[in-house]
Amino acid sequence: MTGRRRLDLVVVGAGIVGLATAREALVRSPGVDVVVLDKGDDVGSAQTGHNSGIIHAGIYYAPGSLKARLCVAGARATRDFCAEHGVTYRTPGKLVVATSPAEVDRMHALARRAAANGVELEEVGRDRLAELEPRVRGLAALLSPTTGVVDFREVARALARDVVARGGRVVTRSAVRTIAEDARGVVVESDTGDYRAERLVACAGLQADRVARLGGVAVDFRIVPFRGEYYQLPQERSDVVRHLIYPVPDPALPFLGVHLSPTVDGRVTVGPNAVLGLAREGYPRGSVTLRDVASWATYPGMWRFARRHARVGVAELGASLLRRRYLELVRKYCPEIGSADLLPYPAGIRAQALLRDGTPVDDFLIRSTARQVHVCNAPSPAATSALPIAGLVNGLLSRR
Ligand SMILES: Cc1cc2nc3c(=O)[nH]c(=O)nc-3n(C[C@H](O)[C@H](O)[C@H](O)COP(=O)(O)OP(=O)(O)OC[C@H]3O[C@@H](n4cnc5c(N)ncnc54)[C@H](O)[C@@H]3O)c2cc1C
Repeated sequence: MTGRRRLDLVVVGAGIVGLATAREALVRSPGVDVVVLDKGDDVGSAQTGHNSGIIHAGIYYAPGSLKARLCVAGARATRDFCAEHGVTYRTPGKLVVATSPAEVDRMHALARRAAANGVELEEVGRDRLAELEPRVRGLAALLSPTTGVVDFREVARALARDVVARGGRVVTRSAVRTIAEDARGVVVESDTGDYRAERLVACAGLQADRVARLGGVAVDFRIVPFRGEYYQLPQERSDVVRHLIYPVPDPALPFLGVHLSPTVDGRVTVGPNAVLGLAREGYPRGSVTLRDVASWATYPGMWRFARRHARVGVAELGASLLRRRYLELVRKYCPEIGSADLLPYPAGIRAQALLRDGTPVDDFLIRSTARQVHVCNAPSPAATSALPIAGLVNGLLSRR
């Protein structure tokens, strides 16, 4: 058993949600003995370190859902945390641009949803849009002045530093292999030894279903990886837009569409798309992990989902086809972007829980046993929402 004392809490996963959860436990009860275990070489090495870096305002999410509530609170909490801990963020604001009358109708529906979520938005017409973004074309747009950008991996690193400063430990290269719960506690076997704790929280992202199964949680969903490819614009084109520029999302799809995003370090990224991933954690193009392919290929929910959403690619596109597809999508609202402007940029892989009937789990999903809490579905905007998710998880722990 690693260490002599029995821990109060072991957290599996040093992504932004796991680290925020460990920190919140230490803030609520200073002096508790907390260890965070992660199989990666560094904190934030999975989804937290491969995303769009957007501090979402909370526009899109079903009113009353955890996503809506925790994203609005999380945007504020993230900005405060960054200010307090010296993490750079910017607030360029965002424009959701409608390019056809049908999109204008959908944009109005989106504005009503945002209002129900208490999100500040301004509707702008064609002329005002041209003033705000001279190189963007559209019939109308929604302006979200509070949408921001940050590097969530830096937020994760700051959270990890704060966990350690408060007396917790963060152990990397420590894959959790087994979890055993009994009346006396939870015992975890990992690559860095065994840990006994009062309670366990798992925030395992792309491995959430597998880790939940290790903990004996009844799992009625499967994590399916959706790859998101990005490009970046050349440095000399980084003034093409000032705001984040988003299309009006297709309500039938769980992803927001290819957008132009100024990053916190002054670049502009283009992306991401959403294609079924052939590896949960293989970031280079062409990565294949047979176990991961078998996981969705043998799952009836995946095929039901694929039939319903034929437009979500089931295979990675070849590089030139992908570039052509991106240009088609981006030129709808920013016609001056050309093929030579799309430079390589690292991809991300989303963990999306799918039910057996093919329905993507839309909201954050948390499952518990007597001594464990598993964050089972934490897709976007969970990076923005991590601090309030941590509050929710700690509330569940204290009730058990
Ligand atoms: C392409 C893309 C774009 C996105 N854009 C945004 C955005 O702009 N804004 C936003 O708010 N959200 C965005 N998201 C979502 C956001 O990145 C995630 O919701 C968030 O990072 C989830 O954090 P997490 O800690 O739950 O998971 P992760 O960051 O995936 O962390 C899980 C951790 O668990 C560890 N782990 C797994 N299994 C084990 C095991 N057995 N033992 C030990 N450790 C284990 C992994 O190594 C990993 O570090 C995006 C996601 C993607 C992929």
